[in-house]
Amino acid sequence: MDAMAFRRALLYWYDRARRELPWRGTRDPYRVWLSEIMLQQTRAEAVAPRYEAFLARFPTVEALAAADEEAVLKAWEGMGYYSRARNLRRAAMEVARRGEFPQSAKELKTLPGVGDYTAAAVASIAFDEAAPALDGNQARVLARLLAFEETVDTPQRLRAQAEALIDRERPGDYNQALMDLGSGICTPRAPKCETCPVAAFCAARAGGDAESYPRLPPPIARREVEVTVVLAYLGGRVLVRRRPSKGLLAGLWEFPNDSGGTLAQALPGARATGELARSRHVFTHLVWNMRGLRAEVDALPEGMRAVDAEGLRALPFPTALRVYRQIALEELEGR
Ligand code: SF4
Repeated sequence: MDAMAFRRALLYWYDRARRELPWRGTRDPYRVWLSEIMLQQTRAEAVAPRYEAFLARFPTVEALAAADEEAVLKAWEGMGYYSRARNLRRAAMEVARRGEFPQSAKELKTLPGVGDYTAAAVASIAFDEAAPALDGNQARVLARLLAFEETVDTPQRLRAQAEALIDRERPGDYNQALMDLGSGICTPRAPKCETCPVAAFCAARAGGDAESYPRLPPPIARREVEVTVVLAYLGGRVLVRRRPSKGLLAGLWEFPNDSGGTLAQALPGARATGELARSRHVFTHLVWNMRGLRAEVDALPEGMRAVDAEGLRALPFPTALRVYRQIALEELEGR
């Protein structure tokens, strides 16, 4: 491939067709970093309003560093993958302590929650470092362009090629151009090769089987567990408890529940008063098949809190329990 001509075609297209997103054009490392953390597991269109709301709440890295964890989790609610929010706050505290953002990808990686990809994205966009932001998205596009025959279960396998291709004059724009190309044109399914600005450079397209790249490893096995979730009422309030500070959904609030268990195991002493909907939630390596029960208790069990609708709304709750949270809110408000 003529790498120079490829870069020129990619950036020419980016300058004319890039997506207008609220973080585009900024070189403020706090804003770039925040957008990249939000984009890690969430689509850009969904991130845009959340990004602006988060910035309105925490306009500077110092404001975020000074916030308590629960306020940050609350601002993150609905985005999922809450460890991102916890790490964001811890990293903000570290930046505030140092007095400035680290300026190289290597240094950025010392912050909590900042891996190779995020470090490279921030270093390239905010500080012009020629570091490829090699996530699954960029890996897919490069694997197709190069007809890369190995699997890219870890995008790092492509690192040498990615480093050779990146534009050294405009590394931030180059990385963002590949992000846009991957999300709008070189999509996982049915890539739009006819409208692709770099089709002339693409080896997979030339071979006529673009979609068969990247070569994929076997799918991950997910463990399925049965979970009983209890909406237990005490005098017009519902019982909630906080999850442990480590492990799955750490620090979030939840209704009493037990994997595979009966009501007696999920909430000893509760009386069942009805069945609720079933719900299913898929985590990375785990699936919860949830059965809901309505119940009553006569006294507040140890370690629990009884909240009204307003109290429930104020607590950071995992997306996995959103069906039951919605039922509880409707029941508490007598709808
Ligand atoms: Fe992707 Fe097709 Fe463009 Fe190749 S030509 S980079 S497969 S969209």
